[in-house]
Amino acid sequence: MSVLIVGSTALDSIKTSKAEKPRLLGGSASHAAVAASFFAPVRLIGVVGEDFPKRYVQLYRKHGLDLAGLQIKPGKTFHWAGEYEANMNRRRTLSTELGVFETFSPELPPAFRDTPFVLLANIAPALQSHVLDQMRRPKFVAADTMDLWLNIALKDLLSLLKRVDLFILNDGEAQQLVQEDNVIAALPKLHRLGPRYVIIKKGEHGSILSSPQGTFIAPAYPLKKLVDPTGAGDSFAGGLMGYLASAKGSVDANLRRAMVYGSVTASFCCEGFGLNRTTKITRAAIEARVKELEKLTKF
Ligand code: AMP
Repeated sequence: MSVLIVGSTALDSIKTSKAEKPRLLGGSASHAAVAASFFAPVRLIGVVGEDFPKRYVQLYRKHGLDLAGLQIKPGKTFHWAGEYEANMNRRRTLSTELGVFETFSPELPPAFRDTPFVLLANIAPALQSHVLDQMRRPKFVAADTMDLWLNIALKDLLSLLKRVDLFILNDGEAQQLVQEDNVIAALPKLHRLGPRYVIIKKGEHGSILSSPQGTFIAPAYPLKKLVDPTGAGDSFAGGLMGYLASAKGSVDANLRRAMVYGSVTASFCCEGFGLNRTTKITRAAIEARVKELEKLTKF
């Protein structure tokens, strides 16, 4: 089955203690869509400006993304610049230039409206809701977010959460949203906002799922070397949703394994700048790491 993914389609300029890379292909939807493409057909919804390099469109095509919902508008592509500290767990945004994103209204081609799996990757919650308004009874809807929306669009986010099956957020965002430092104690409070499934990401310490079937802890794949973690969360969500769309059986039966696939896909993302590493891997490389992770955690 297919996955519809909406989010930012961006140019990212990234600085680490080792290197500086300008205008890489980035954005929450780009990372999530490439990750999902290893498992299932992906329909991308986004907007770019006329400056968006042709080679990036070719990269989308190489991953088989259906681009009928990608708008190309006069003006500049959304540009985000960020800088990491030496330990990589700390990042600060240097600049955000909205460009064509400022007036973006995601419009779904009629053929996309029946897509069974929907990933609302990080973007303003009002736009995430606007996409849902256009869908016909999707089977499973997941939403991601970021601290910015908790600060400036909380009302929109809370109304979106009443309409999604799975809410994916990181530990800092969970703490901010429900005023609870302890991740385990935050989970029931997050369910009360609407979603039946909640996943809290804890970076290199993996992620926790809370669902009607109980709680599950998925490890992160242990990496020796981190190059650039930008987009790891989006790759996790994309890999997870792609795997769910590809797997036979119910979401409940597949969700734990889907988290492991998301985790492994995200590990590749961290090994290169932007999408440099993820766009060079194969499904076989993902399967090999899933097996390794299985061995590492079996007891
Ligand atoms: P992550 O590392 O998972 O937090 O995601 C990083 C991606 O988020 C980058 O590729 C950015 O282009 C994108 N991004 C940064 N700020 C925003 C924003 N305000 N809205 C949507 N996407 C953003």
